[in-house]
Amino acid sequence: MRIDIITIFPEMFAGPFTESIIKRAIQKEIVTIKLHDLRNFSTDKHKKVDDYPFSGGAGMVMMIEPIDRCIAHLKSERDYDEIIYMSPDGELLDQPMSNVLSMKKNIIILCGHYKGIDERIREHLITKEISIGNYVLSGGELGAAVLVDSIVRLIPGVLSDETSALSDSFQDGLVSPPVYTRPQQYKNWEVPEILLSGNDKIISDWKFEKAIERTKERRPELYEKLKKK
Ligand code: SAH
Repeated sequence: MRIDIITIFPEMFAGPFTESIIKRAIQKEIVTIKLHDLRNFSTDKHKKVDDYPFSGGAGMVMMIEPIDRCIAHLKSERDYDEIIYMSPDGELLDQPMSNVLSMKKNIIILCGHYKGIDERIREHLITKEISIGNYVLSGGELGAAVLVDSIVRLIPGVLSDETSALSDSFQDGLVSPPVYTRPQQYKNWEVPEILLSGNDKIISDWKFEKAIERTKERRPELYEKLKKK
């Protein structure tokens, strides 16, 4: 998979993409992530990428031209499955969406700033808009990093124990059951006896029951969806 990110702050991705699972996925060449500094596509001598909004009002708006030129440059090199704009009013990111995106070959992610981007970019160039939650971030970069992380870990071969992504929360419409590790004795905080029983069937039934219980308690909307299935 190839992910092209358009941003005015490429260095914001240094931490998230140079550690842990994404770093390994890049090293194994399972994913290629390219950062494009939008300012390099500005024709202005000061590399300007934003301007005042028509009609006035607070905040700057990202201009069409540099974004159009950057996207056109990328499209001239390959076809893209999606051109995504990170936006607080986009479709809310969830696990099914990450699953679908993890199967794509090439995607572009555009990070906005200021008051956002000229609406005509959204109308004519963007194929999908994604929000990471109902709150406003200063820019699309942190959202893009969250999106990329959630996608990349689902690509086969990225996680060493492939079943581990499958048993994560939301993967089957349920949140995860609680997990425990050594020591078995800590103060008087106990590990449920069943997990020590060695009986695989009883243990997997217990985990399923706990997952249902937690989903019902913490994510009632997911539980309702599951009941309808
Ligand atoms: N004025 C806009 C907010 C702009 S925030 C509004 O009220 O809708 C600046 C940029 O941050 C946006 O262009 C977007 O790319 C990014 N952003 C902000 N919140 C986000 C969220 N919840 N999810 C994804 N991207 C977000």
